[in-house]
Amino acid sequence: MNTTIIGSGVAAWTLVRELRKASPEAEIRLITADAGDFYSKPMLSNAFASGKTAEALLMTPAVKLAEQQKTEIHIHTRVLEINLTDQKVKTDKGDFVYGQLVLGLGADTIDLPIQGDGNADTLSVNDLWDYAEFRKRVDGKSKVAVLGAGLIGCEFANDLLKANIHTTVFDLADRPLPRLLPPEGSAFMKNALSAQGIEWKLNRTVSSIEKSGAGYVLTDSTGEKTEADLVLSAVGLAPRTQIAKAAGLATDRGIVINEFGRTSDAHVYALGDCAQYHGQFVLPYIMPVMQAARALAKTLSGEETAIKFPAMPVMVKTPDCPAVVSPPLPGQEGAWEVEVTETGVKALFKGKAGELLGFALLGDASKERQALTPQLPAIA
Ligand SMILES: Cc1cc2nc3c(=O)[nH]c(=O)nc-3n(C[C@H](O)[C@H](O)[C@H](O)COP(=O)(O)OP(=O)(O)OC[C@H]3O[C@@H](n4cnc5c(N)ncnc54)[C@H](O)[C@@H]3O)c2cc1C
Repeated sequence: MNTTIIGSGVAAWTLVRELRKASPEAEIRLITADAGDFYSKPMLSNAFASGKTAEALLMTPAVKLAEQQKTEIHIHTRVLEINLTDQKVKTDKGDFVYGQLVLGLGADTIDLPIQGDGNADTLSVNDLWDYAEFRKRVDGKSKVAVLGAGLIGCEFANDLLKANIHTTVFDLADRPLPRLLPPEGSAFMKNALSAQGIEWKLNRTVSSIEKSGAGYVLTDSTGEKTEADLVLSAVGLAPRTQIAKAAGLATDRGIVINEFGRTSDAHVYALGDCAQYHGQFVLPYIMPVMQAARALAKTLSGEETAIKFPAMPVMVKTPDCPAVVSPPLPGQEGAWEVEVTETGVKALFKGKAGELLGFALLGDASKERQALTPQLPAIA
């Protein structure tokens, strides 16, 4: 039976590898809107200061990988519609019939509704080709405004700083990484990066970006104006659910899948940033994708296997403030216990019975990751 996979990110390519291992004779087809080359997406937010080009980040060209994995590949081919009844995907290059279909569609960057003639020039970096454009545009610049003080915004800000570019970070929240860190952790991160030169403009939104000479002037909700040579947006990602929704598949925050990775249609599965695992949560990080791909490959090969997630802490790639986080799941009851020292923050999120449910470790405390991770409960 033909397995058609849409996408060529880490979800799609990991699944191809795992599927080939599980089923040497499997008929695999991959359809992707981009060039299909394999690269490590997490590298995009900390590659600039070390001078890495997009070509240097490309790990394996699509054609080579497809050949190695005996996979039929269709690059620069955008899926427009899925017909669940006929088991067919319609693309801008023709129709394809599938036996089982896997959606590895990833997530879209969120665009804020900002006024001004400069907003159209705002960049987001969500794939290797965006990174190539970012490198080209940032070359020779000295002042960058970063919109968003979450994980990706802070990582880009630290990387730009390392490249001696003055960086101002804007956020509506009053502190960096508010969804991953308790306030003491955010304060530590903010101070550590301020000490190296990052300027924070928090508690405000950017209301307009106007062109000004070769650069831009940002006006924020406090009325303050900030000059920048380039504006980089990192305000968040939204799972790509549109095609699935239009086809009639169940969607919520992401494409809803059960514990086997199956959507509301028996022949369609989802994986990676577009998926809402176990019908409940999105996990837009690399390790969960790998974990889910291994189980899904077995299910697609006929051995129904539930996707299980152990705790998988995420490293925040801010070299001026090393941090590792394993946030509690949304809605989990408990409270942070926080120890702050001159050199770090150890924050443990504990449940009612004193059990460890999550952590945030910054500075020196990040060394405790290995000792603490085994104490965390599985995510699912
Ligand atoms: C800058 C940055 C830094 C990150 N750093 C970290 C980190 O340090 N640690 C960590 O764990 N995670 C990190 N992440 C998150 C991690 O990279 C993602 O969770 C992961 O790469 C998602 O992979 P994916 O295959 O699900 O999606 P993607 O890599 O986005 O792939 C989606 C694919 O679907 C294709 N596609 C979409 N729509 C269509 C269509 N209609 N037709 C055909 N093809 C289509 C796209 O072309 C693409 O090939 C980072 C993300 C970013 C953006």
